[in-house]
Amino acid sequence: MTPTAPITQDVLTLPRKLPEGGLTNIVGLTRDQLRAALIAAGTPEKQAKMRLGQVWQWVYHWGVRDFAAMTNLAKDYRALLAEHFTIELPEVVSKQVSTDGTRKYLVRIAGGHEVEVVYIPETDRGTLCISSQVGCTLTCSFCHTGTQKLVRNLTAGEIVGQVMLARDDLGEWPVQGAPRDEGRLISNIVLMGMGEPLYNFDNVRDAMKVVMDNEGIALGRRRITLSTSGVVPEIARTATEIGCLLAVSFHATTDEVRDQLVPINKRWNIATLLDALRDYPGLSNSERITFEYVMLDGVNDTKEDAYRLVELLRGIPAKVNLIPFNEWPGAPYKRSSGNRIHAFADIIYNAGYASPIRTPRGEDIMAACGQLKSATERERKSARAIAADAGLAHG
Ligand code: SAH
Ligand code: SF4
Repeated sequence: MTPTAPITQDVLTLPRKLPEGGLTNIVGLTRDQLRAALIAAGTPEKQAKMRLGQVWQWVYHWGVRDFAAMTNLAKDYRALLAEHFTIELPEVVSKQVSTDGTRKYLVRIAGGHEVEVVYIPETDRGTLCISSQVGCTLTCSFCHTGTQKLVRNLTAGEIVGQVMLARDDLGEWPVQGAPRDEGRLISNIVLMGMGEPLYNFDNVRDAMKVVMDNEGIALGRRRITLSTSGVVPEIARTATEIGCLLAVSFHATTDEVRDQLVPINKRWNIATLLDALRDYPGLSNSERITFEYVMLDGVNDTKEDAYRLVELLRGIPAKVNLIPFNEWPGAPYKRSSGNRIHAFADIIYNAGYASPIRTPRGEDIMAACGQLKSATERERKSARAIAADAGLAHG
């Protein structure tokens, strides 16, 4: 399958849509935005800092959804909040649990669009894989999401909301008065679900700032990994504006093959991408870049590929994450054999790079990497039709 669709990031970004009754959803507002909104709603300016701290803690530390439960606020202030704000998450349409414990949530957002969120429990960690867009404008030939035509950027609230709804389902909010549970069910977040996060940079950044905030969900910046297909001009901002770890969907060692697999390579080729990675502001031995490499039978899995990859990585603190290809209906590739994958891993490892092979998780529920695509995906629609659907005026 040769990808033919143009490389574009022209997707519809919905303005922050006010919920019914003109209420503002608190979820996803940055501290500055929430402070301004509290003042606009009538909070006296000199109280704003304190009120912001209180509301923030209720929403993001305790997971409270009802203003009436915010017991350290005066009754009339709670009423004022309820008049102006809501605390709303995307709706969970369905939840599937794999035989290996992986959970996949199908989530509905404004306009009726759907995205998927996956929770992967492991012995030493629990990783939540979240989406940044509905579908993806890029058309990587091995990725199921890339075949979905309908695309829109998620708002910051919809991105933070994915983390919160997973915490709801896992029962992970702290209970007042109970001893603090040190082990976290969601210890890591990866932006590896649907969409290209660097094509929705501002919303992804704002959402991660909320998730990292110490007085709320408080996930450390090193526990978040953003995966990009290689949007070169935006890569440095990942370090300077978010500070999280970076993963790159590399997948090939020649431009000829990478053009086929990751068509954004036609815009920013391997050499250009590697230059950007060498200059990555966050780069160090303790914060290495992860090179994701999907193992496709007979396409990119030879020993020569492995040796070339080692050459390309020279000088970049890196680890290589080998991903056995996950099949989906109609996929034009097959997974490399176990022998091939191990031989490839050994070459990388012997050259001094960690080269773990990712264990596919949740395959029985189509939750593994690259299998995500909302089941009820609708026919391709123009941006105008999507906007009309969402009840927005569109000029
Ligand atoms: N758009 C971003 C993040 C989402 S994809 C990106 O491309 O990096 C997350 C990872 O899953 C990427 O490395 C992607 O290349 C990989 N992937 C996609 N389809 C896959 C499949 N069918 N099997 C295995 N990995 C896949
Ligand atoms: Fe988009 Fe990433 Fe899938 Fe490529 S691999 S189509 S960039 S989601």
